[in-house]
Amino acid sequence: MAGNWKMYKTPAETKAFFDAFLPLVAESKHCEVAICPPFVNIHAAVEAARGTRVGVGAQNLYWKNEGAFTGEISGPMIKAAGAEWAIVGHSERRQFFGETDATVLERTKAALACGLRPIVCVGERLEEREGGRTETVLAEQFGSGIAPLDAESFAKIVIAYEPVWAIGTGKTATPEMAADAHRSLRALVIAKYGAAAGAAVRILYGGSVKPDNVKGLMAQPEIDGALVGGASLDAGSFASIVNF
Ligand code: PEP
Repeated sequence: MAGNWKMYKTPAETKAFFDAFLPLVAESKHCEVAICPPFVNIHAAVEAARGTRVGVGAQNLYWKNEGAFTGEISGPMIKAAGAEWAIVGHSERRQFFGETDATVLERTKAALACGLRPIVCVGERLEEREGGRTETVLAEQFGSGIAPLDAESFAKIVIAYEPVWAIGTGKTATPEMAADAHRSLRALVIAKYGAAAGAAVRILYGGSVKPDNVKGLMAQPEIDGALVGGASLDAGSFASIVNF
């Protein structure tokens, strides 16, 4: 269960979140938990989560280790700040910051090279779903953004299926719609990396996951976890999701 805080919270608010959140999930041993705050809060999050089962992640990374790239943050910098995870290819990055499948692949490789665990996001836009192109779009994103990874690298990534029309909109895919998309993604994984990789890969669902819909989504065997935006900003609501 991963929380994507997007561009919300200061370091002090990060600490306050962890103070409230950690006791609420202390008994939850059934899943891994990660919080991905803005870069400037990674240090505060790592300090607050030290000694607990809650990991910390970044929301993006640049693919060069260092250099004249004003405003960018590299994988080794994120790793040195204590984070374990990195979200890659979130639809807001694709929509507003020119992310492509090719740059998703570069970022994923860069994350793996420095020991970060990438959560690689894919998902169709509303017009693509309405045009019956969901499976084609997922196949394109998988084919160009993920499938060039070798099997050893692939085994270290988590995939997040996030239909763009469901992110931050309050519209959730029904559990059956999400499961269908997860099934298509898993079939792509099996075709490329084999049955064992298909069984092992974790595919998270993201898109307006809330305490009141998480149970239905997680009841689908195809859905291995959730990437949660808005509802991860509140300690009580993200704890309810983790403890579904
Ligand atoms: C996200 O940011 O990845 C996300 C799924 O957002 P929300 O839960 O707010 O739809």
